[in-house]
Amino acid sequence: EFISVSNLAIALGQKIDVFVRQLEELGFEDVGKDNILTGETAALVAQEYGFEPKVDAGEDEDLKPAPASADPSSLPLRPPVVTIMGHVDHGKTTLLDYLRKSSIVSQEHGGITQHIGAFSVSLSSGKQITFLDTPGHAAFLSMRQRGANVTDMVILVVAADDSVMPQTLEALKHARAAKVPIIVAINKIDRPEANVDRVKSDLATHGVEIEDYGGDVQVVCVSGKTGQGMDDLEENILLLSEMLDIRAEPDGMAEGWVLESTIKPIGRVATVLVKRGTLRAGDFIVAGRVHAKVRSLRNEAGVEVDEAPPGTAVEVLGWKEPPEAGDQVLQAPDESKAKAAVRYRQELKERGEVIGQMAQQEQDRREREREREREKALAEAAGGPRNRRHNDRHAAAAPAEDVDPETPADTTKYLTFIVKGDVHGSVEAVTAALLEQGNNEIRAKVLISAPGQITESEIEHAAVSGSTIINFNNPVPSNIKRLASDAGVKILDHNVIYHLVEEVRDKLADALPPLI
Ligand code: GDP
Repeated sequence: EFISVSNLAIALGQKIDVFVRQLEELGFEDVGKDNILTGETAALVAQEYGFEPKVDAGEDEDLKPAPASADPSSLPLRPPVVTIMGHVDHGKTTLLDYLRKSSIVSQEHGGITQHIGAFSVSLSSGKQITFLDTPGHAAFLSMRQRGANVTDMVILVVAADDSVMPQTLEALKHARAAKVPIIVAINKIDRPEANVDRVKSDLATHGVEIEDYGGDVQVVCVSGKTGQGMDDLEENILLLSEMLDIRAEPDGMAEGWVLESTIKPIGRVATVLVKRGTLRAGDFIVAGRVHAKVRSLRNEAGVEVDEAPPGTAVEVLGWKEPPEAGDQVLQAPDESKAKAAVRYRQELKERGEVIGQMAQQEQDRREREREREREKALAEAAGGPRNRRHNDRHAAAAPAEDVDPETPADTTKYLTFIVKGDVHGSVEAVTAALLEQGNNEIRAKVLISAPGQITESEIEHAAVSGSTIINFNNPVPSNIKRLASDAGVKILDHNVIYHLVEEVRDKLADALPPLI
């Protein structure tokens, strides 16, 4: 959780200028009121002011991932988790469908795999690979934004008849940013127009150090249509997996990530990718601000299983509320610990909201004070008791003294915003900063504020209401950018709160009617 310097000043009842100076005396450098502090730093500062921040007291109630093993090389290997990415129409879905057909569960049960967000394939060697079966960058990105490095490697699909395309490069960029190694799958080699050499040289041009050019990025030629090369692809995945030496504890408290969350006829289900430990029916788990007593686990064929070891994904039944895709899953030793963690996380969220509201009220109060002072100054300059608010249309009828000073002028113009960001804390901080902007003539109003990716319905909402979308520290997928520009909706994309506030200020100033 985070808080801006100005909101912390308000929470502690300090004047912002004095507070900034005092922070500098405490040893903070270059403090600005828009700077964001972490919850821990804020708690330390609060202690300096004689407060007993609850964050400290409650800290123990939260669940945290176990520290990394001191000797990872002694742990057993786990199946690699693989994501397929590439340009549209280059064959991601076709390759996943081909692989899904060789899924272990469909072989064992003669069934058809269902979409749960992932499936496992086992090779003749007995080794397993887990594929995330939502192709495309959006899923990968939305996970990564939330800090989830769920995938161990990316298969970059490039069609042999189309070569490197914009989304190929985008996928490459994301894989690099996530420091996830890639394997190139040159697909559609059955097509007469296929030109494998061109793909290789195009990739090399874009800095992919492929094997043929002396690098270490493996390249496999495949056809999702005929199945040619698919065994090689699987072997290459295992080879890379061995090089990466992917290992995990099979015991201890289970840890993982929510891949998907939906409601099915059997109840609320969420697919959990287990990264550490083993998940079993009866376990208590927490994801975000919800918990579950695992009622049962089901694999991608809908068959109940006893346990999910590291590197596998299962559908989990037993949630009290739906968890969110991208949430980290942590096992709790017992139900009371799970509930305490949820309560603690809920309190943190509410506290953030309360601080936001306090900031808003305080800002309103200061604004009204400034307005009164300005009127007084105007009246004095005019040489008489001219107390009328220049923009209050009721003022002519009512003497100024009767105007409730708590009521802001009803001619205030509003610019509306939708605020999105990477995490709850930053959305909260951005919203609070926005609400501080403007004056009695023009103000910012926030219609929606929520963490996560900008959704299509939010773009519609913005288009209908004439709002601007603010996106903080959150990469915007190209399809969302396109949807927004088609709808004539502007997205202000920033990762420094100060720059964001400046741009909003400019927008507010631009929207003011000219003076005179
Ligand atoms: P995605 O957008 O990357 O998921 O691409 P799709 O899997 O939907 O494939 C796009 C088109 O290419 C479809 O018409 C597929 O049938 C076709 N396709 C995919 N792989 C191959 C292949 O290896 N050979 C041929 N000839 N066509 C393929």
